[in-house]
Amino acid sequence: MQGRALEANVLGAGPRTLLIIAGIHGTEPAGGPLVRRFERELRAAPERLRDVTLVLVPELNPDGLAAGTRTNARGVDLNRNWPARNFTSTERHGGDPLTEPETRFLADLLERHRPVLVLSFHQPLACVDYDGPAELIAERVARASNLPVKKLGARPGSLGAYVGEDLGVPILTLELPANAQRSSEEDLWRRYGALLWQALDEAFALDPRPAI
Ligand SMILES: [Zn+2]
Repeated sequence: MQGRALEANVLGAGPRTLLIIAGIHGTEPAGGPLVRRFERELRAAPERLRDVTLVLVPELNPDGLAAGTRTNARGVDLNRNWPARNFTSTERHGGDPLTEPETRFLADLLERHRPVLVLSFHQPLACVDYDGPAELIAERVARASNLPVKKLGARPGSLGAYVGEDLGVPILTLELPANAQRSSEEDLWRRYGALLWQALDEAFALDPRPAI
């Protein structure tokens, strides 16, 4: 990495963890401000967390976001570098799973917090995709945001393939529209804030995951 720190912010201490990631692809910056806004809203109203621990990663690929590249500084697509059964070894996928500091950082968070639900913000497809046992969750979250549910299929070595298909943990891929980053934070929050509140309700309704 190019000296930029990876940041994870943890709110609450409930038995169920909701993990929200943005900016795994550096050319898809719109989710980051939404995640930061959600954090501020919850710091102002912590009672809304109830029994949920929230782990927020607003920029998983800070070097890519700074450079405007999909990949990290080493040219690896961080959403193809996961130890999923469908991992394919190419230079752009990292050669092996978890070769990158960014994916290892997130893998450590997954292991430590064992989330009941994971959300990852992308662009530009304007839909809610899901992997694992998340169909109904995806429908309710999509309804809250006026985005359609679309099953795009698990990409090789993607976070969705690993978390959803292999670990069996519900994961939503939230595809915001192409130019969403041109909207103000206020505008983004007005359109997609309800989606985040709905995801928090969904996490609260899920059984806590037992420790390994
Ligand atoms: Zn993406």
